[in-house]
Amino acid sequence: MNKQSNDNLLSRQLQEWYRQYRRDLPWRDSNNPYAVWVSEIILQQTRVNQGRDYFLRFMERFPDIESLAKAPEDEVMKCWEGLGYYSRARNLHAAARQVVEEFKGHFPASHDEMLRLKGVGEYTAAAVASIVFGQPYPVVDGNVFRVLSRLFAIKEPIDTSTGRKLFTGTAAAILDPQDPGTHNQAIMELGALVCTPRLPRCGECPLQHYCMAFERGEVSAFPVKKGKPVLRRRYLNYFHIEQDGFTFIRRREDADIWRNLYEFPLIETETESDLAALQSDPRFHTLFPPDSEVSFRHVCRLKHLLTHRIIHADFYRVELPGTKFPALEGDFLRIGSASLSEYPVSRLLQRYLETI
Ligand code: SF4
Repeated sequence: MNKQSNDNLLSRQLQEWYRQYRRDLPWRDSNNPYAVWVSEIILQQTRVNQGRDYFLRFMERFPDIESLAKAPEDEVMKCWEGLGYYSRARNLHAAARQVVEEFKGHFPASHDEMLRLKGVGEYTAAAVASIVFGQPYPVVDGNVFRVLSRLFAIKEPIDTSTGRKLFTGTAAAILDPQDPGTHNQAIMELGALVCTPRLPRCGECPLQHYCMAFERGEVSAFPVKKGKPVLRRRYLNYFHIEQDGFTFIRRREDADIWRNLYEFPLIETETESDLAALQSDPRFHTLFPPDSEVSFRHVCRLKHLLTHRIIHADFYRVELPGTKFPALEGDFLRIGSASLSEYPVSRLLQRYLETI
């Protein structure tokens, strides 16, 4: 059997398995590029179960590209709240505006034009181009890396540019040009359901008789990774202020985590801190001048994991007298405490608000 027919057979068996076992998900079989695009962006860093609820909510609130383009950014961020990796939402929003302005509201049908949209990389362009428009572009996500590395016992690390090129070439070589959309979804689904990171279910795998790692008894040796990034710790001290039914928040504007989400006044420290240590920090006195009658209560300490970071957050409840606090009023929004829930906040702040 030559390689081409062998690969076609492999793809056919993969697609047969997919038709039988795939999960029923709301974006499946859609020929609406907007819906497929939104689902692919949501699923990039999110588990399917969580992503499904967000997808349905997002599509209900922004049913088409025009409604997303017209929406204020806060509303888009609010809809994304809790999902993490917020640059995805900012980019979706910016790209929707691009589609309206540059493509007269029609999602581009060409892979290369899709790549011009903010936040759309090779993976997303290949997914939308193949699933919606039937174009022969292979998708290569974490699931596909894993399946291919095991199928062909590829020792090249997946987290290097040489590795990525090799895997993209391998994915292209086995792609079914007749139905690239189904093929791509099938290989991703196989990685999600059968060829899982730990304890893959090789006994149920439709590709077992092609699988070199399985044949060699080396499944757990794949995929190969070059190195793990170092985890960075950050220490955040938040002040949840109460002043006559009002509180103070501000939008994070810097190029940092949680950009464009709202948060309480904050002092970030190099190490874990406490109230006494914070009170000797000049930034503390900028917020709360030393002669003001302010009372503080430590509410809780939360540990929060992000990619490559561990956040240690202390939350203080602060009672302010009704007098003026110039630094707070200059840099922060003074909002009614009851309206706090209308502002998009990080999952960490949501967790805090759930505890009080
Ligand atoms: S046989 Fe096992 S390791 Fe190989 S592709 Fe299937 S599930 Fe993955």
